[in-house]
Amino acid sequence: MAKIAVTDGMEEGAVRWLESQGHEVKVAPIDPSALLDGALAGMDAIVVRSATKLTAEVLRASPGLRAIGRAGVGVDNIDVVVAGELGIPVVNAPRASTQSVVELTVAHLLACVRHVARADRTIRRGEWAKKSLKGTELSGKRLGLIGYGRIAQSVGQVAQALGMEVHAYDPYLPPQVAKAHGTFLHAEVDDLFRRCTHLSIHCNLTEETHHLVNAERIASMPHVGADGTVCGRHLVNCARGGIVDETAVLEALENGVLTSVALDVFEHEPVNPDHPLLQMDGFHGTPHIGASTVEAQTRVGMDIAANVHAVLNGDNCDFIVNRPHL
Ligand code: NAD
Repeated sequence: MAKIAVTDGMEEGAVRWLESQGHEVKVAPIDPSALLDGALAGMDAIVVRSATKLTAEVLRASPGLRAIGRAGVGVDNIDVVVAGELGIPVVNAPRASTQSVVELTVAHLLACVRHVARADRTIRRGEWAKKSLKGTELSGKRLGLIGYGRIAQSVGQVAQALGMEVHAYDPYLPPQVAKAHGTFLHAEVDDLFRRCTHLSIHCNLTEETHHLVNAERIASMPHVGADGTVCGRHLVNCARGGIVDETAVLEALENGVLTSVALDVFEHEPVNPDHPLLQMDGFHGTPHIGASTVEAQTRVGMDIAANVHAVLNGDNCDFIVNRPHL
């Protein structure tokens, strides 16, 4: 039996399952100062989403922790290196939300080129802006995917079904993966920008990818599609805030260099209501809802419960993301 703290919420069914395995589960948020004051002492495991920050200091103030579960993919809110040094395995649930993020990405891509958000805003104001809402098709255009992992590969398949030519940049991926999908893999990220009118981001946030999407690269994108249509330049980020330089994106929208940008993730979340991007017509925003579907949350809860239980039990688990010094 283990004591498990769940600080950012968890599906009821997953909590019940952990309890049925004999664990004691405490579902309640813990504020950052309490975490630093050792609120996790006596706990065997903690399950978080993205809100709880498990910094080196918090981990050092939590003796007894034997497992950390991240109900989702990105582990940038956890100091996985220090967790490893302390012998604590960090597990995630990387597959549970893939389909939901794919669908939101495609929704944003379509909403961008057909001005769906702008159309909704104008019609609510009583305007019949039919003439100024002429869009373009995704079909016949080149989509560039930065990162070609689980989500990007499925986005690529949907994009191909819509008639797009799919390009990707992922320096860590064996080239045969892209080849098998009929995706053009580029060795240089700059080549991806120079080729594609539409870009969608699906890499992890790392030092290497921080502000990877910058003013210079955006300006290098073509504004004419592979089919000869003047379609403008479009950018979608449903991966992590911070990969896109929001100041550069704002300027590119103001100057007309970018036609649209859709962000589900922001450098600082929740986004400040005064953020200047929110005033831009070509901006589409969602409040980090990529994984917010009934299906994804059910899957994520059950997956992370199973992974944390496996680690606590000393069983084999394929989803340990760090190298715990045991
Ligand atoms: P994944 O690990 O399958 O794919 C990520 C890919 O990025 C990998 O193939 C990796 O090689 C590649 N990559 C790493 N560094 C790179 C670099 N410097 N340049 C280009 N590519 C690089 O992950 P996934 O499940 O497909 O998730 C992709 C992104 O979506 C992650 O950032 C994840 O955190 C995010 N995500 C967001 C939501 C949301 O709610 N919006 C939900 C789930 C996942």
